[in-house]
Amino acid sequence: MSGRIVKRTISFPPKPLKPLPLRVFLFSLLAAAFLFAGAGCGKTGEYNRYSDSFFGTFDTVVQVVAYARDRQEFEGYYNQIQARFQRLHQLYDTYNDYEGINNLKTVNDRAGKEPVKVDREIIDLLLFAREWHQKTPGQTNIALGPVLKIWHDYRAEGLSNPEKARLPSREELARAAGHTDLDRVIIDEAAGTVYLPDSNMRLDVGAVAKGFATELVAREMMAAGMKSGLISAGGNVRAIGKPLDGKRDRWAIGVQNPDESIAGEEPLVDAIYVNDAAIVTSGDYQRYYIVDGRPYHHIIDPKTLMPAEYYRAVTVVAPDAGVADYLSTELFLLPLEESMALAESLEGVEALWIMKDGSKKFTTGMGQVLKSQGAGSQ
Ligand code: ADP
Ligand code: MG
Repeated sequence: MSGRIVKRTISFPPKPLKPLPLRVFLFSLLAAAFLFAGAGCGKTGEYNRYSDSFFGTFDTVVQVVAYARDRQEFEGYYNQIQARFQRLHQLYDTYNDYEGINNLKTVNDRAGKEPVKVDREIIDLLLFAREWHQKTPGQTNIALGPVLKIWHDYRAEGLSNPEKARLPSREELARAAGHTDLDRVIIDEAAGTVYLPDSNMRLDVGAVAKGFATELVAREMMAAGMKSGLISAGGNVRAIGKPLDGKRDRWAIGVQNPDESIAGEEPLVDAIYVNDAAIVTSGDYQRYYIVDGRPYHHIIDPKTLMPAEYYRAVTVVAPDAGVADYLSTELFLLPLEESMALAESLEGVEALWIMKDGSKKFTTGMGQVLKSQGAGSQ
């Protein structure tokens, strides 16, 4: 086997002090096993399959598979992918400063003080997130930072000190929610600056940055000549072309089981067969903490200011990894009827919802690419 990649489970932004939960770690080993199982095989004509992975950007493992003519060609792609992820990670980081770089942390730190000159990749990410906020019901809001920071801090405390885990108070959350208006973020394209006009405002791009970065890198790699490959950054998978093994016409991407209690503890609940597309999952199992025996995850409903309650996971297929990442969060935050209607209304977008009871719902087009519905690699 080759080319199969499993969705990863760690989220952006980076939280350097938090150890990986065991299941995430085990899963990453499993993912690596899938990826590397075929290393060295799959030689067909002029193409060989190569794979490698690196850690340290976007708080996750980035895995790369490519069919290339020789190792040197593969290494050229791989090194470029790694360098670009490193740079984009630094730009989109809201937790750390880097010498000589204005990043999103700089923008947050200067809230209420002054506009910050930033690289084009930051402006593009923010414009992208605002555009999709406007053309969807807008549950995904990168200006929700003040609310998300409260949840982040309570979660970090609850994880390091489980017996003291607490929930934030309604008042605290409501106060923070008064400073989350995305329309107030001033993006000056001509000047190349971003300004948060209220010192309590704060950007959090965790819902979109990994996918957006993955798409940027994938397009650069296609321009550099990469014809066939997979780039996977923490549950954000971008497929380029088709596997050049002379056998298959589509890549197989595993859909992770959100819960060992579903489907008899199988690590995967399904597989999706695609070419030239992105597959991104948002799930309640990816990052959470426990209070009084109940898990509280990291995707926050802006209406209730609490973790969204509709699904275990939502997987989106779209032509673009930024769009797929945005939508995986957005669809997770909408009730099924609305969520399904949004997915069906968007050209080239398909979705799979894993419900609380483990059952699956999917768009018509998703049904045609799911293994469980009879799809395959041809
Ligand atoms: P992951 O990054 O774990 O793959 P998502 O793409 O769904 O999953 O992004 C979740 C992250 O998005 C959270 O960790 C948080 O930083 C941010 N987030 C949570 N709720 C919202 C929201 N309503 N709007 C915008 N960002 C959100
Ligand atoms: Mg997302």
